[in-house]
Amino acid sequence: MPMNEDLERFDQYPYSKLLDQQKRELVFAEAKNIGENNASRIYNEFGSRDPFYIAHQEQVSITFDVHDDVNADYVKFAEYHAKKKNIVLNEKSIEIIAKSYDKGVVENLILTHELFHHFEVSRWGLTSKKFKVPVVYFGLFRIGRPVLAASEIAADAFAQTLNNTAISAANLENAYFSNID
Ligand SMILES: [Zn+2]
Repeated sequence: MPMNEDLERFDQYPYSKLLDQQKRELVFAEAKNIGENNASRIYNEFGSRDPFYIAHQEQVSITFDVHDDVNADYVKFAEYHAKKKNIVLNEKSIEIIAKSYDKGVVENLILTHELFHHFEVSRWGLTSKKFKVPVVYFGLFRIGRPVLAASEIAADAFAQTLNNTAISAANLENAYFSNID
């Protein structure tokens, strides 16, 4: 059973937040499965849990950036630039989270999350597109919008499973926001 803080992911995206509790739980369970299964596949293929090694094998470059907007309501710990095959790690936020957890583990979890997005683009397709939110426009027609939260949930599960750790993405976020207060 997902915890309430797991389901908060849905509130961060304009269409995902339209889903009711029951649909959120279904999407959560399926997206989590996708992330965990893909972590096993990648571990078997690369014979490693080290995201720096896997990124290197995939020719994904990693750069470190420092953002000072630590008090923003919304902060990116990292970003994947598909066209450049580049992952930017926000060192400032990693250091803030590392006041609560081992810095190496924090960095690996955040990097692995972004590697999931790399593999979505290069191999598996976007997890968000496997789910649809029906949206009615002007009462005239319905269109299915991808559930962006699903990609994030899958990426989090992928990172936690590949790194074989009890530390979740929600733990990292909570640590970040409690350490900046
Ligand atoms: Zn993400």
